[in-house]
This record gives sequence, structure tokens and C-alpha cells, in this order.
Amino acid sequence: MTRITGDKLLDSLFDGVYFVDTERRITYWNAAAERISGYPKEKMLGRRCADNLLRHIDPLGCELCLEGCPLSATMQDGNLREASVFLHHAMGHRVPVSVRTSPVRDDNGQIIGAVEIFSDNSGSLQILHEYEKLKQDAYLDALTNVGNRRYGEMTLSTRIFEMHNHTIPFGVLFLDIDHFKNFNDRYGHKTGDDVLVMVAKSISYSLRKMDVVARWGGEEFIVILPGATGVIVQSVSDRIRILIEQSFILVEENRLNVTVSIGATMSLEIDSAESIVSRADRLMYLAKSRGRNQIAYDGG
Ligand code: GH3
Ligand code: MG
Ligand code: MG
Repeated sequence: MTRITGDKLLDSLFDGVYFVDTERRITYWNAAAERISGYPKEKMLGRRCADNLLRHIDPLGCELCLEGCPLSATMQDGNLREASVFLHHAMGHRVPVSVRTSPVRDDNGQIIGAVEIFSDNSGSLQILHEYEKLKQDAYLDALTNVGNRRYGEMTLSTRIFEMHNHTIPFGVLFLDIDHFKNFNDRYGHKTGDDVLVMVAKSISYSLRKMDVVARWGGEEFIVILPGATGVIVQSVSDRIRILIEQSFILVEENRLNVTVSIGATMSLEIDSAESIVSRADRLMYLAKSRGRNQIAYDGG
């Protein structure tokens, strides 16, 4: 196992994760790997990935296990690999997945195995499944229909794991509605709720498919931008800020709108889910102190 994670954390991820030793024998198989592949842990542990249970094929139908197994290649040269492949589900059908492999090293830097992370790529189907899952597992915020805090925390864990294993950075935004108490006092709690829904929609419509928005607390949201750069993080923040400023609800022909202050930051190698959120939160307060309706960014 790698330095950062326990089984419990890995089992809470949406992505399938498994480890192999240098013989390509499977030493770890997480809960999402079971869900995506249909193969239970008991069946996989100790098997060799070369035994070809998963039978990864590329889009042309070539079997990767026999030739061009990304796990062996990664163990040989120590490089990370990414590929879109189809794995063989226990029920027989093919599941499109994107796989990322990276080497696992011991304290001396010696390669002792490899890890593969794979995510279900089945497009619209996946969204539907994820949505069903969100509903079932109560990962959805009932008022705004975006992810709830638990969903946000889980997504952050996945991104932190991915950063540590694949050095893929990500951006985090912390948004807080400005003077929302005054708004509620003036227009009533129900109208306040309508505005929360509007803000959540404006944020969602500013994002790409892989980005995640979650309601973190009362009038606070976080946004997680996988694979983002500092430039993307700033431009997305700005887009969200402007979209919200220009959205309004009509109440007796009055246009009511709110603004948000946003703290925006990039992941650092040393970050945990908590440290990155608290940095974004501090930056959000900085944006408040500078006059609200603005962004405070710091590259980490
Ligand atoms: P600031 O600009 O400093 O953020 O001021 P603020 O008034 O937004 O901050 P404060 O933390 O004092 O108040 C947050 C308010 O958000 C308090 C509460 O009335 C409102 N709020 C929190 N959750 C909800 C909710 O679910 N519905 C509604 N309508 N209002 C909420
Ligand atoms: Mg607040
Ligand atoms: Mg506020």
C-alpha cells in the first residue's frame, strides 16, 4: 500500500483501485473496483492480472493483457500511463473505463508493484448511475440538488489520492454568498431558499462534466476542478462570479440578486482534504475583507 491511504479511504472512492505486486498478482481490490467490474474482492485477491479475468481490450479489440499491459510497462520504466480501454464485466458485457497506472515504490525507491485506478466511462449511463447513487446514499443536497458536504468530502479524497499517486493537480473554490443574512431578513427565508437554488444552478452551468459542486454549509459551496491549472481556476471563478451577479429572481416584478465572494486555490503535494479547504476558506474571507463580490486566488 502507498503512504497516504488506508483501506477505508480507498473503499470510499468512486474510482476502482487495485494494486499488483511485481508478479502482477492482485494484492488489493477496493469496493468501487467490485462495483464497476462485478468481481468481488475474494475472487480477485491473489489472482494475477495476467490471468486475464478483466481482459482489458483497446478500442480496436486488441487484448492488452497479452501485449502492452500498462501495469507491466509502468513497472518496467516507472512511468505513469493513461488509456481508455474496455474491461470485461463479471456479467459478460464490456465496460468502457479510463485507466491510469503508476508504480508503487518502497522506501528506497525500488519498484515493488503498481497501482491502477479506473473510472467508469460509460457516459450518460454513468451520470444516471451516479445520480441514482447520489440519491440512494444521500449524497445530494435536498434543497439545491447539487452534491452535499459528504459528496464534496468524498470527491476531495479521490482528488487527493489521485494527486499523490499520479501527480494530477486540481483546483478548489470556496464560495460564500455576500450579506445573505440581510437578504433573508429583508425578503424572507423562502425567497432566500430560491436564491440558493439559483446560485447552485449558476455554478453548475459554469462547469465541465468532470467538475464537482457541493453545498458545504448554509450559503457556502465548494467547487472541485480536476486537472485544472491556475489559469483555469481563475477563469472559472470569474465566470461563476459574473454569472451569479447577473442572475436574478423576480419577486413582484423586483429583480433580486446576490453576489458571492470566492477563495480559489490549487492543490499542493502536501495537501490533505482539510488543508486545501481551509486555505480556500481563508482566501474567501480575504475576498470578503477586500469588499466582497470578488475572488482571492493563491496558487497554493
Ligand atoms: P457575509 O457577506 O460576511 O458572508 O455575510 P452573511 O450575512 O452572508 O454571513 P452570515 O454567516 O452572518 O450569515 C449567513 C446567513 O445565511 C445566515 C442565514 O440566514 C443564511 N442561511 C444559511 N442557510 C440558509 C438556508 O438554507 N436558507 C436560507 N434562506 N438562508 C440560509
Ligand atoms: Mg457563510
Ligand atoms: Mg455569507
